[in-house]
Amino acid sequence: MTLRVGVIGTGMIGQDHIRRLTEVLSGAEVTGVTDANREVAEEVASRLKNASVHATGEDLIAADDVDAVLVCSWGPTHETYVLAAIAAGKPVFCEKPLATTPEACRNIIDAEVAFGRRLVQVGFMRRYDAAYRSLKAVIDSGEVGAPLMYYSGHRNPSVPDTYTRDMAIVDTAVHDFDVSRWLLGEEFAAIRVIAAKPNRHGGDLQDPLLMILETESGVLVNVETSVNIKYGYDIRGEVVGEDGTAALADRGHVILRSASRVGVAVPEDWRERFIAAYDVEFQEWIHALASGEGASGPSAWDGYAAQVVCDAGVKALYSGERVEIELGDKPALYS
Ligand code: NAP
Repeated sequence: MTLRVGVIGTGMIGQDHIRRLTEVLSGAEVTGVTDANREVAEEVASRLKNASVHATGEDLIAADDVDAVLVCSWGPTHETYVLAAIAAGKPVFCEKPLATTPEACRNIIDAEVAFGRRLVQVGFMRRYDAAYRSLKAVIDSGEVGAPLMYYSGHRNPSVPDTYTRDMAIVDTAVHDFDVSRWLLGEEFAAIRVIAAKPNRHGGDLQDPLLMILETESGVLVNVETSVNIKYGYDIRGEVVGEDGTAALADRGHVILRSASRVGVAVPEDWRERFIAAYDVEFQEWIHALASGEGASGPSAWDGYAAQVVCDAGVKALYSGERVEIELGDKPALYS
């Protein structure tokens, strides 16, 4: 069975996912597109075999030839489209963020729980990256002992002028929050945010930032965002366990503590660094839906948890205080 996918938002990531679904992966075709800018949607559709252009996201979701929905529009529109897809009973892959506030994420969780089955998957693609998967396997194997600390470094060469203060947390570190929860297998309990001496390339931004999070069991996670670091896009991760350390390296490798320095090529941007992860993410989504298993990747709960951490992180950024993180009860659908 070929999964017929409708794509809402044909901007940068929407077009990249369409290329992936139509040119790289098997089992899916794009049958509908829509974008706030209709001309862009028409241009994208003209390059596809069978795609209709819909006037609105709601029209696309309702279309008979759309089995599953991919939401790649601007973040503040995500809640509306994800809720509409749940109301239509259609699986929906939503690029991060799931929604822009914890309350909006909760609305999605409530709707999905009321529906009774998982339909939502959130685009936290690091979980599909070979190096992160190796790191998780090492942590789960107990080779470095119980994790005590995790360092997550997120570096960009530069950011556009439209990048605001909060975005270091809600747009950049949100991936580090999700992947840390996933690697450690637990939720966060608190966060504080400290600004370092500002990078002179960053204008008025508080950059770099150091975020110190505590998990429920007391593991410390320190997230570094350096978004004007010039030399390239670079993602770091190292767990400090009771018996040793394990760190991310390229090509799916993990460097255990005894290793000496390793030289690695630095990718020029995030697409190159995570290109294979996006392919794996979508191929697994297509297979899961085609086999009737349903959405099994990062859930609405994961999208909600990341957003609650972002919300607390922004409060911590402005107050300078330690801010507690409270998720509330987790519905059984996500256990
Ligand atoms: P983008 O290039 O600005 O594309 C977004 C597109 O959505 C634009 O064409 C925009 O049209 C359109 N749009 C806005 N509101 C819409 C609506 N109500 N209905 C239909 N289309 C609408 O942005 P992007 O970089 O692709 O990012 C899109 C989403 O993907 C964001 O949520 C972003 O956080 C996420 N993302 C995730 C990753 C990841 O690593 N997982 C990476 C990149 C982006 P206008 O330009 O006319 O407003």
